[in-house]
Amino acid sequence: MNTDYTEALAHVSTASRPSELRITDMKVADIVGAPMHCIMLKIETNQGITGYGEVRDAAYRDYALMLKSRLLGENPCEIDRIFRKIKQLGTHARGAGGVSGVEIALWDIAAKAYGVPIYQMLGGKHRDKVRVYCDTDIDGKPDGKRMGEALQARLDAGFTFLKMDLGIGLLRDVPGALCAPLGFLEEWQKGGGWAGYDGTIEERHEFHKRVQLQSIEHPYTGIQLTEKGLDWMEQYCADVRSVIGCDVPLAIDHLGHIGLTEAIKLGRRIEKYNIAWMEDAVPWMYTDQYKLLQQSVAIPICTGEDIYLHDNFKPLLESGGVSVIHPDILTVGGISELKKTADLADEYHVAMAIHMAETPIAALASAHVGIASANLLAQEFHSFDVPWWNDLVTGPAKPIVDHGFITLSDAPGLGIDELNDEVIAEHLHPAVPGIWESTDEWNTRYVHDRIWS
Ligand SMILES: [Mg+2]
Repeated sequence: MNTDYTEALAHVSTASRPSELRITDMKVADIVGAPMHCIMLKIETNQGITGYGEVRDAAYRDYALMLKSRLLGENPCEIDRIFRKIKQLGTHARGAGGVSGVEIALWDIAAKAYGVPIYQMLGGKHRDKVRVYCDTDIDGKPDGKRMGEALQARLDAGFTFLKMDLGIGLLRDVPGALCAPLGFLEEWQKGGGWAGYDGTIEERHEFHKRVQLQSIEHPYTGIQLTEKGLDWMEQYCADVRSVIGCDVPLAIDHLGHIGLTEAIKLGRRIEKYNIAWMEDAVPWMYTDQYKLLQQSVAIPICTGEDIYLHDNFKPLLESGGVSVIHPDILTVGGISELKKTADLADEYHVAMAIHMAETPIAALASAHVGIASANLLAQEFHSFDVPWWNDLVTGPAKPIVDHGFITLSDAPGLGIDELNDEVIAEHLHPAVPGIWESTDEWNTRYVHDRIWS
């Protein structure tokens, strides 16, 4: 190679020397109102290729930044090897946010370096577009008619699959609908709230007590549904169906912390409304209770958004306790783990719906796996009412969720050209400000990570 050619090449970003790629930096930006608190992530390299990732909603940027010293200097194309190094630093639910977000950014870099879309690296398409279901919470929908109208607006926008919240939170102001140890409901209804970032010690002490109350596992709350409460829930579903009809799938979520028998009682009352699935009726690790629940009601049973790593889905799948699994790409461990989860469920003839309540980064990462998975039912979308959600990125055709579907282009990686810093800057989290600031303080943290001696 002559000198002129070598010099010229040094000034060209060819994105074509994957074996010489090195991770050089990691940066973050926290936004609010998407509608969640979301943490967007960039991993930069020595060849000008940037990978985009995201930490699970309502987690914390440090979950990713604590990994930075383990990543600098690594070749980002060696995804599986790096993941095996960092996966011990993730855990279920939000605790997996850092590991998962980094893994997605590595896939984005590797796919860009080789010039292919991520779904192609996963084996290629099973479908041309990903069906998206639109989640709908209970705010402003105190009765089934109003929930039906909100869901009808989703249908009018082109969605072909729906989900609504249907839980004991709806019964707070319905006298005689709930039975519980006297005084418990009054305390519980004060709510958990969010951590005070600068509260006094006593305010924080009260906060921890409220969170603990809201975190009592389902069998230990002692909350039961009365006949009146069951009648009310049944009527809610009847009113919803009277508006949207019976020919569109409708899943339900956020039942509240009621025990197994209450979930069975409720399920039997509403199964006539062809519920697409009943989600997280009890904690996901209650394998035997899931098996009993699935055997007791004629509704597909679903869980999984808080499960880390694909092999933790195996007990549920082996038990027959789920008909639909519901992993979140930012909790399961990222792209490889989501694909492994899909394929594992496929072996048990169980469908996959993908939980997703974050930015276009997570939405597109999920869609790449969804489009490449045989057993995908639908992917969640939580941001239909957020007008600036699409503007967070450039690259994909807009709207990203178009008439209830995501279509992926042939662009390399996730298909994102750039993040839109102007839009991000308008929605920064007030308690975690700053956009793509230096994270050099994390460069030299060292821990002896080996888990054996
Ligand atoms: Mg859920």
